[in-house]
Amino acid sequence: MTVHHRFTPGPVHIVKLPVGADIVREITAFAAANGIESAWVTYLGAVRRASLRYYDQEAREYRDFVIDAHLEVLSGVGNISLLNGKPFLHTHAAFGDADGKAFGGHLNEGCEAFLIEVRIEELEGDALVREFDEETGLAPWV
Ligand code: ZN
Repeated sequence: MTVHHRFTPGPVHIVKLPVGADIVREITAFAAANGIESAWVTYLGAVRRASLRYYDQEAREYRDFVIDAHLEVLSGVGNISLLNGKPFLHTHAAFGDADGKAFGGHLNEGCEAFLIEVRIEELEGDALVREFDEETGLAPWV
């Protein structure tokens, strides 16, 4: 089923994360502190360590992995919506290594920022809400 919500663009926040910050925790905390319930997020920069997940659609579970290296964040994209009444960041990113090889995935907690520049565009309208879904085993928008 297609889920559709109409929003109007709200304020845009430009944020530089502190060196050493956990990307997922820091952006989530920023959203909570600023009352952001629905937003689109993009970012770029570099990390000292990447912590990622891959969702196995057959097993219906995440496989976590860590890349303990200094990497470029080529492109990070995500969104903020409400899960269990709190802001939840869903984000994926592509990373590049010293040889220019790229890889990526769903960001987990544990990514250590070196320099991360973030754009958070608030979406004005009824808050986007996530709920557990039997079909996928995930918590998509409703
Ligand atoms: Zn994901």
